Amino acid sequence: MPSATMKAIRSVWTSDEGSMAKQTAETRWAKIIQGTVDDMGETAAMEDIDDQKRVESIAIQIALKDIKNEIKNNYALTLLQDDGKPDVQEWNKQLASIGECSWINCPWLFGECYMYRRIQGIFNSSRYWQDYDVFRRQKDSTFIKSRAAVEELASRYMQTIAESGLVQDESNEEAKKLRFIEMTEVALWGNATDLSLLANLTLEDLQQLQGRDAIQKSQRNIVDNDTDDVWAYLRRTAGQSSRQIDIVLDNAGFELFTDVLYAAYLLDAGIATSVRLHTKESPWFVSDVIPSDIESLFKHLDSSDCFPSREFLDRLTPRLLKFFQSGAITTTSDPFWTTSFSFHEMPSKAPALLKELQNSYLVIFKGDLNYRKLTRDGLWPHTTTYEEALGPLGKQSSIKILALRTNKSDVCAGVPTQREVDALNEEAPNGAWIQNGKYAVISFNEGQ
Ligand SMILES: [Mg+2]
Repeated sequence: MPSATMKAIRSVWTSDEGSMAKQTAETRWAKIIQGTVDDMGETAAMEDIDDQKRVESIAIQIALKDIKNEIKNNYALTLLQDDGKPDVQEWNKQLASIGECSWINCPWLFGECYMYRRIQGIFNSSRYWQDYDVFRRQKDSTFIKSRAAVEELASRYMQTIAESGLVQDESNEEAKKLRFIEMTEVALWGNATDLSLLANLTLEDLQQLQGRDAIQKSQRNIVDNDTDDVWAYLRRTAGQSSRQIDIVLDNAGFELFTDVLYAAYLLDAGIATSVRLHTKESPWFVSDVIPSDIESLFKHLDSSDCFPSREFLDRLTPRLLKFFQSGAITTTSDPFWTTSFSFHEMPSKAPALLKELQNSYLVIFKGDLNYRKLTRDGLWPHTTTYEEALGPLGKQSSIKILALRTNKSDVCAGVPTQREVDALNEEAPNGAWIQNGKYAVISFNEGQ
């Protein structure tokens, strides 16, 4: 598509009627902020908290409530205050370029990222709470609720290793492909648990989203499924000596567990020679992975209070840990991941990062926010090809991009035909198939 047409595709705004954007801005944001206020209250009430720290926590709660109040009253978005971080100017420049806008009348992508940056600004400006993760408590408690699925996956993975050894099983091409499909879909549906989106999730809902049966039933709900193309690419290039796979993570807890397991599988099966996990630098979209969440994952996996059924976990956890210790799996953060820029801006805003991704064997983007950024949160006709929606990261970008994303916003490209779009609209009307998290994409582009 010529670039003029591409530019004509607008991004979704929080004022768009019937959009997930509007619903999120009007109902979910205030709830998320209230969650941070409650968390601060709970932490400050703990006995071992220092008095000065407790006093400051009151000021933080008031500042958080102020943001909630701004949202509820649909106030104009205001410039970020200087909190000593180097990105303040860039945020304010971007806000100025949008022009006059308010919480319920702004580009959704900018507004939502801005909210998390505002929250972080309060902690950055504090004396005692700079490194505090206000979402930690929520992340931990949801992970513990995923017990059944974690134990099921651990048992399944260790049994697979015992039966086939993955790598030794060279002869059976079809079996290898099926294993790849299965592991990719585990990583995909691990993304169904996103705390910024599923604020009212019950334990029962959660368990319905996880587990093997659920995954098999959900296969027909993958509206753009390029698994065959990814597999063909991996087979064709298996002779390359260096095959580093990058995974740009989404959520901590259960999803991070599935991602680390996926990384282990990619290594065990000889598909990757190394895996690099990209985390956020600071708390983001409630449940996104920050570096401390990796330690927290292993602490939980090791704990028989969290996971009492130890038979398979006691074998799996050291195996996973070893990949980190040997450097086969590494972690990294880039400040670009916590900006509000879409990835169409990566060539101008993060050229060094772009170069790294161009050198990667495969870059896997997890989750809804990454997908929104990949596609500029654009209201593309749903039959627009994934390559086209990727803009500068698509055709001739030299990046091999795989998106594993359950659909939880307003954007979805890559549906093969209009007839399929019509069928989806009938099956899940009013955009439900783009918004409700029960449908997904496995979208791949080779950047040629
Ligand atoms: Mg997330």
